[in-house]
Amino acid sequence: STNWLQKVDTEFEKEVINKKEKYVKRMSQDYYWYSPILREQLTDRFGDCVLSPRSEKELIDIIKFAVRYKVPIVVRGGGTGNYGQIVPLKGGIVLDTSRLTNVIYIEKGAGTFQAGVKLGTIERLLKESDQELRFFPSTYLKSTVAGFIAGGTGGIGSIEYGTLWDEGNILSLTILTMEETPRKQLVQSKEELAQYIHSYGISGIILEATLALAPRTNWVDLFVHFTGLDQALLFSEKVANDPIIKKRLVSVCEAPLSAAFRPIETFTNARTATVLLQIDSCHIEKVKQQVENDGGTIAASFSEYIKKHKLRSSDFSWNHVTLWWLNRHPTDTYLQGRFDPRDYLSQVRTLKKVYQDEVLIHFEWIKAGGKVVPNSQPIIRFTTIERLQEIIATFRECGIKVSNPHTYVLEEGGKDDWIDAICDAKMHNDPFDLLNPGKTNRLALAGDQIV
Ligand code: FAD
Repeated sequence: STNWLQKVDTEFEKEVINKKEKYVKRMSQDYYWYSPILREQLTDRFGDCVLSPRSEKELIDIIKFAVRYKVPIVVRGGGTGNYGQIVPLKGGIVLDTSRLTNVIYIEKGAGTFQAGVKLGTIERLLKESDQELRFFPSTYLKSTVAGFIAGGTGGIGSIEYGTLWDEGNILSLTILTMEETPRKQLVQSKEELAQYIHSYGISGIILEATLALAPRTNWVDLFVHFTGLDQALLFSEKVANDPIIKKRLVSVCEAPLSAAFRPIETFTNARTATVLLQIDSCHIEKVKQQVENDGGTIAASFSEYIKKHKLRSSDFSWNHVTLWWLNRHPTDTYLQGRFDPRDYLSQVRTLKKVYQDEVLIHFEWIKAGGKVVPNSQPIIRFTTIERLQEIIATFRECGIKVSNPHTYVLEEGGKDDWIDAICDAKMHNDPFDLLNPGKTNRLALAGDQIV
């Protein structure tokens, strides 16, 4: 605290304390600043210290200590979440998992990893067995296996394999409970897994995860230009739904979004809508034919350029589109929503009619529950919070299921289907409400049972 700092009399000690404070503050932050609303709410929320266990035993000792003294714990993976998921609302311990990096085993079709193993590390290791992750977020280099499961949804590969909730992607989780004597639980069924997926770590601490793996594919990156957004969307829908074309990414950006992709700016054009694809090399000719039929133009030697410069198309998809745009336009923001696959074109047209360039469309085609659907992370040219809320309301009126990225409250973020299951697990596993407290409103209602 400041009082304590005033009592320190040497410059050296002051410097050490300042450095520690800066470190704790940095480790208490994620990418909540994408949202002007969360920027106002979370900028001065920090933990009191960071603890980085090196083993399961050290992790269990920290849990025992925290339960004994009723200290909150927020678990931190790579810190790439978007909604203040790791920002401690009630201080306490930021539990950094970056040293829990054991690879337990990798075999054909499955691998088990400790919580803090980075997805980029897994991708690298899997090359040896000619395998790859089924899907990963565009932040795969920094994000951890448990952080993705407890904070993410899907990513590059979801067009083939679906999301974290789709059966067969996460095979099991080992969970530690937040009790005086922590219990170690193996969860495997779809219903049990749903208690921990996208849970912001409020219902238990993931120690290990077993993921299903995919056979390695020779992917080719294509960057396709279209003069109009409708053309780009119709083309992308055909590729997304084509059962023969094996693909890992079908990402659409309205003009001028791609012009913000600095590392590939020689290929971009502020006047065209673009479709970024990652396609199995065996199916490239079929896709090229479709591009020609639909009036698109493939950017020549894009794939070679990406490889040569050690880039990945994932760097220009999913929420990286937002990141590149915000680099150039720091006062703008974004939304997340699932359009209706049968009606998405008219939903887009309505939005464009009402908001013109105030809403810039960005689609990621994915599979969810076995259906191909247009997921979307449109850019919003931000003016005021009232206007942003009006835009969110219009999205909902058009029938778009909004996952609101401007709230840190779990159930308000649009993944409310599983909130009862998550809260049930929290009641059993965290009787003192110490895990990431304040991230759900449900427990405020059920508070008597928790403490
Ligand atoms: P963190 O941000 O550290 O944590 C996320 C949540 O998980 C927190 O609530 C944390 O408390 C909890 N948690 C972490 N470790 C544990 C544990 N061991 N036990 C229990 N809970 C735990 N998301 C996607 O789904 N797909 C994308 O393509 C995608 N792209 C993104 C692009 C950008 C530029 C940014 C900024 C974000 C993106 N995200 C995406 C969101 C985020 O990057 C992912 O969800 C990521 O996988 C989170 O991993 P992490 O290790 O950084 O988790």
